[in-house]
Amino acid sequence: MPDLLGAVLQASTSSLQPGGVGRTQACPTCGERIPVVGWRPRTLTTVCGALRVERPWYHCRSCQHGWSPADLTWEVAPRARISAGVADWLIDLGGSTSFVDAQRELGKLSGLQVSAETIRQYTEERGTVLDMAEGAAAQSVLRTQEAAAPLDPAPGTLVVETDGVMVRYRSGWHEVKLGLVGGQVEGKLQNLSYVAARQPAEAFGPRLLAEAARRGALEIVGWDGPLTGTPLAQLRSVVVLGDGAHWIWELAADHFGERIEIVDFYHATQHVWTLAHALFGEGTFFAARWADFAILMLAEEGAGALLALLDATAAPSPTAATLLQRERQYFRTNQARMDYPTFRHRGLPLGSGAVESAGRHLVQLRMKRAGARWSDEGGQAVLTVRSRLISKRSLVA
Ligand SMILES: [Zn+2]
Repeated sequence: MPDLLGAVLQASTSSLQPGGVGRTQACPTCGERIPVVGWRPRTLTTVCGALRVERPWYHCRSCQHGWSPADLTWEVAPRARISAGVADWLIDLGGSTSFVDAQRELGKLSGLQVSAETIRQYTEERGTVLDMAEGAAAQSVLRTQEAAAPLDPAPGTLVVETDGVMVRYRSGWHEVKLGLVGGQVEGKLQNLSYVAARQPAEAFGPRLLAEAARRGALEIVGWDGPLTGTPLAQLRSVVVLGDGAHWIWELAADHFGERIEIVDFYHATQHVWTLAHALFGEGTFFAARWADFAILMLAEEGAGALLALLDATAAPSPTAATLLQRERQYFRTNQARMDYPTFRHRGLPLGSGAVESAGRHLVQLRMKRAGARWSDEGGQAVLTVRSRLISKRSLVA
């Protein structure tokens, strides 16, 4: 294979042809015409194996710059020992599994020997570039309220979900925020794409917004308002699922058009359980009976019915009364976001199960391997590469 590739390169690269070598080349720095100074060998690890090629070499004396036009044709960076094709393999593997496993899999499947450290460098380098591009896109979307990347609209009803996952970094455990964007068609969530970052809500919000914009959230679908005067742009409607944290609702209110906000059902039931234990004792039969009843009520009749139940419930102690008061406030604040019977009737997702499962396979599977301790930059680079891989997006920045 390397010999075959060598012959193909020889035959298809114009600067390697007898006529090409005879011609002078313009110095990339100063533009002076330079004649060939000789042939130089170069070794490259390619998808076909280790390749050794001789190619003409040029050297500009005024600039002290040396180069070969063949390298430019092949898109191999100065001093790189790995072809662009192998680099893409390394980054794909490095985002998929640990660098040590990536080294072994690559060797087993292709026969290529590349160190785990090289795979780490390539993966983190590309991830950092992609991450910076995402950061720039987020800023651009905030500024322009328009998608920064070519659109890839989600089919059906646009759905945005978010969740947090704990990951161990060198500096300790930190929450990685995960966002999902997809389309709900006939009760099924499809064409999912993801963003993941260890960032506070203020920084992660714009990142998720940029992804939602790329999937069509900021597309104008019509105009509202009086026939005379300034019309209002009507944006595509969005379903937003959250765990009850405020930032997601604020993000949605600030940027999205008509929207349906849903508190993840499982998250809401956790609040019911906390309350049941406070009212009837931790782990008691009565606590379980009451929680089952209250959860059924929440599912079948929505938060309004549950609130009526809470209003008719007496707390056995001052501590329980404080908690009851707090939880009543929680359900009242989110009442409209817990209209589960209506959501179910409309075929909308009630839980953020899709983003939770992504938390496992996108974040935990790669980030929580035994002994893994991530630096901030390295961890973010791998999260970005992995989000792209699982979203089936290009790894080219
Ligand atoms: Zn020059």
